Amino acid sequence: MKQIAILGSTGSIGTQAIEVAQMHGLRVTALAANTRVDTLVQQARVLRPELLCVADESHYPALKEAAAGLGCRLLAGMEGLCEIAAHSTTELLLNSVVGMVGLLPTLTAIAAHKPIALANKETLVAGGALVMNAAAKAGVPILPVDSEHSAIFQCLQGNKRNQLKKIILTASGGPFFGKPKADLQNVSVAQALNHPNWSMGSKITIDSATLMNKGLEFIEARWLFDLTPEQIEIVVHRQSVLHSAVVYQDDSMIGQMGVPDMKIPIQYALLYPDRLPCPTKPLSLTDYGTLTFAKPDFETFDCLTACITASAMGGSAACIANGANEAAVAAFLAKKIPFLRIGELVTRSIETLPITELTCYDDVVNADRMARAFVAEQL
Ligand code: MG
Repeated sequence: MKQIAILGSTGSIGTQAIEVAQMHGLRVTALAANTRVDTLVQQARVLRPELLCVADESHYPALKEAAAGLGCRLLAGMEGLCEIAAHSTTELLLNSVVGMVGLLPTLTAIAAHKPIALANKETLVAGGALVMNAAAKAGVPILPVDSEHSAIFQCLQGNKRNQLKKIILTASGGPFFGKPKADLQNVSVAQALNHPNWSMGSKITIDSATLMNKGLEFIEARWLFDLTPEQIEIVVHRQSVLHSAVVYQDDSMIGQMGVPDMKIPIQYALLYPDRLPCPTKPLSLTDYGTLTFAKPDFETFDCLTACITASAMGGSAACIANGANEAAVAAFLAKKIPFLRIGELVTRSIETLPITELTCYDDVVNADRMARAFVAEQL
């Protein structure tokens, strides 16, 4: 029985991971949420973890009160997240926090030789070189949870990595696929939050609407699978049934398909390499009937283009694009900027700010801060 610790347990990935863990009898030894103390304590009542953490320290008094008598050790802040990451009871760390805050817990888990199920893509985008070098040095496996990267990881099993030609990274296209830029001028927050296939948290749903999410995944794939930009083809696939594919030297394309339900990739990472029954609907190809594929519109969705440019620029460029996007998405959700401004700010950030090498954690934090400050100035 594997013991897992979950950072981001009240989010979309976290709650589904708990469902998977319960179904397969995995012991959950630690839970951490950002602010949702009520949900966190409800989870703790059922799972009885040893450690319970609220990342936003201002909610610690509320946690203390609500978790009284549960027998959990209570933690707070980044220190708490990192303590969980390195704790002796953590056999697998599921990192499903949103944004850059996931980076230090990931590095801490690697230093403590803990395998990581990674659902925090911003971590790899901002600090990819640091994370992958540290993981390789320590021999720590990083198991992708993102559905596309899980698909690629699954397609690589049992084949020779050096015979891989390229990967096909599929994209749903989001709610605004096929629309020209002019039509996106007055998109509301509610319209952008209305994703056709996936039910997810608000930050990633906006990223899906701008295609920033696919740009982040492009960078994430480069780091996870050690690919050149030319080895990644982005294909819009509206039904989100083919979760991604790989192409080998013989031009055989192997893809992974399933219903759009995150429980499948979550379970694959938690139980790897086992494949056991999963609490999802089975995929019926005849119910779908038709699957479609199209090229992405790089002009309308300039976040995607900016990420690919940033990835080619190297150094801190991807970290800056990510930080600018996090700040811009927060401003859009707060109704401070229009939808198209997100792409403009991300693009402008990598064109304007100095690109430097990222050799340590502080370099990443500084580049991220610079990007956020740049966006704040433009609001
Ligand atoms: Mg994805």
